[in-house]
Amino acid sequence: MAVLRFDWESFYKELSDCKKCRLSEHRTNVVVSDGDPHAGIMFIGEGPGREEDENGVPFVGAAGRLFNYLLEEAGLDRKDVYICNVVKCRPPQNRDPLPDEADACLPYLRAQIALVRPKVIVCLGRISARYVYDRDIQITRQRGQIKKVGAFYVLPTYHPAALLRRQELTNDFVSDLCLAKRLLEKLENGENIDV
Ligand code: URA
Ligand code: SF4
Repeated sequence: MAVLRFDWESFYKELSDCKKCRLSEHRTNVVVSDGDPHAGIMFIGEGPGREEDENGVPFVGAAGRLFNYLLEEAGLDRKDVYICNVVKCRPPQNRDPLPDEADACLPYLRAQIALVRPKVIVCLGRISARYVYDRDIQITRQRGQIKKVGAFYVLPTYHPAALLRRQELTNDFVSDLCLAKRLLEKLENGENIDV
């Protein structure tokens, strides 16, 4: 595990021309984050898609638009949360990031977590949950189950792109977002959380 030696300036500097894995070869933009770097909730997706790669902003494609809408449904505003991904460069044809690519990129995610210090982390989908919550996650069984990982409360849920294919997952997704919001409110009030 790489040592966390980043401040925001060195983080951005190192990331901007990173070539630590093969995903650097075809990227247009490194996709770092969107939202508030002081947010209490951090959302972690998988990796940029085509529109994210073109714009340099996470979750701006079809899944991102649905995500924005459902954040609002849960009473959250995209500009008040922090949004990022496991890998910062687009995998070709939107394939899953390979383990060595994720491993190469994880120090950046760890730096983001350490610098933002969110109270609640929501993993969007299996790939994110795999690296942050549980290596052997079964998302349909474990979604919505809060777990303390180090100093952070982590909640896995579906990836918004999964909802585009399977609309019936939407209610569970929104209820997980509501749970994350309630959890943050409790933590901000200094309440004890049993998980
Ligand atoms: N899917 C992701 O996992 N992340 C994005 O930024 C966009 C789509
Ligand atoms: Fe670097 Fe991450 Fe991009 Fe790989 S995916 S080149 S590790 S920023």
